Amino acid sequence: MITDMSDYNQRVKQRLPGGVHYNFHLPWEETPLHFTHASRSRVTDMNGNEYLDLYARFGALIVGHGNEEYNECLKDTIDRVLSVSHCDLDAEALELIHQYVPSAEMIRFGLSGTEIVQNALRLARAYTGKNRFVRFEGHYHGNADNIMGGKTARTGLPVPSDYPGDMKGTKGRARDAMESQSYLLPWNDAERLEELFRQQGDDIAAVIMEPVCVNGGGVMPAPGYLHKVRQLCNDYQIVLIFDEIITGFRMGLGGAQQLFGVTPDLTTLGKAIAGGGVPVSALVGKSEIMKLLVDKKVIHAGTFNGYPLGTAAVKATLEMLGRKGGQAMDIMNRHAEMIHDVLRREAAKAGLPLVVQGPPGCASYHCCTEPLQDTSEYTFELMSFDILLNGKLAEHGILVSTLSRMYPNIMLEMKDVAWFSERVPAALAEMKELYDELI
Ligand code: PMP
Repeated sequence: MITDMSDYNQRVKQRLPGGVHYNFHLPWEETPLHFTHASRSRVTDMNGNEYLDLYARFGALIVGHGNEEYNECLKDTIDRVLSVSHCDLDAEALELIHQYVPSAEMIRFGLSGTEIVQNALRLARAYTGKNRFVRFEGHYHGNADNIMGGKTARTGLPVPSDYPGDMKGTKGRARDAMESQSYLLPWNDAERLEELFRQQGDDIAAVIMEPVCVNGGGVMPAPGYLHKVRQLCNDYQIVLIFDEIITGFRMGLGGAQQLFGVTPDLTTLGKAIAGGGVPVSALVGKSEIMKLLVDKKVIHAGTFNGYPLGTAAVKATLEMLGRKGGQAMDIMNRHAEMIHDVLRREAAKAGLPLVVQGPPGCASYHCCTEPLQDTSEYTFELMSFDILLNGKLAEHGILVSTLSRMYPNIMLEMKDVAWFSERVPAALAEMKELYDELI
């Protein structure tokens, strides 16, 4: 189905490293599609091929392409007040976030998830006067030296370090940035966390996690785990940070924290918070902690923080998502679930092992027989199969995001489910052949 776009890719590659705008340490090369236009849930590439877009810009694009209400709000803002430091949409956007996100007593805006996570850690350190933070295997919190990848030795304190073959490993880290700042633990294991708190709690400022580990394959928290972590953080005066950059507005307007009834001290938001057309991230949390910004004890700076176009996008997105008790997201999730059912059913028909797991707004498929219970089950081999299917789907007009994530948007409709149903059998049949050759 895809015709040749290689000349254009070659041209781009002359000036853009790898021909792509981002990269991890993965042993396969990407040949990106370049798109010329998009409408609702479809995108069209330079060669005129149309795709169902479940890639949705790494999950950010929740409003769909060409969403009139969203676009009008952005256009109005461009025409009225393109670039000022504070605009007349601030209060509305802030109040909407406060209304929906349980931990959002106060809010600061940024641009990327990476930067807002670093600001959350800074705030936690300042608040507690302690240094290290705890993070978890399989979780992702952005493109920064102190927080990406690594693994720990089997004995001693769980201090992470780089290792060969780590897909989130990188050369060029500042020396000791990873070793000196965090502890890395398996997730969903409250006992290990408690043991570490008992030993090192005096120097642990924060615990950061994805409350549903989307980056680790779509793994849910074990029953009671989030409550237990909340309790432990209270006991040891450690700031609990939920990184809800994906789950924030893809598990409902209140994020995972509302669904699980566990309120963290700080939350990082990003991606879909501004609909997906423009970048906005947010650091939200308890007034008692955010007060350090009021008192200027902690710096949080950024040229474009709270820029009008972004603030307008947050306002438009949350107004749309919140209308009629979140109806748009309910419908979106129903369509997503239909797609997941088709995928499961057709994979079974093709004889390909396949599971779909995670919340409907940010689910993943995996080419295996049982849903992953633990992020350690998300092996490189499994990722490789998942990415092969990702490629096959693309060849048949269906785009899914990083490795195997499927991000719906609120403009998804029955004809998209039909598009998926018509195209997926051929992709799965070809994948099954590949699978049998490789296994
Ligand atoms: N946290 C999580 C949970 C993410 O999924 C991501 C991005 N995939 C980030 C942080 C980093 O966000 P950004 O890419 O905007 O820096």
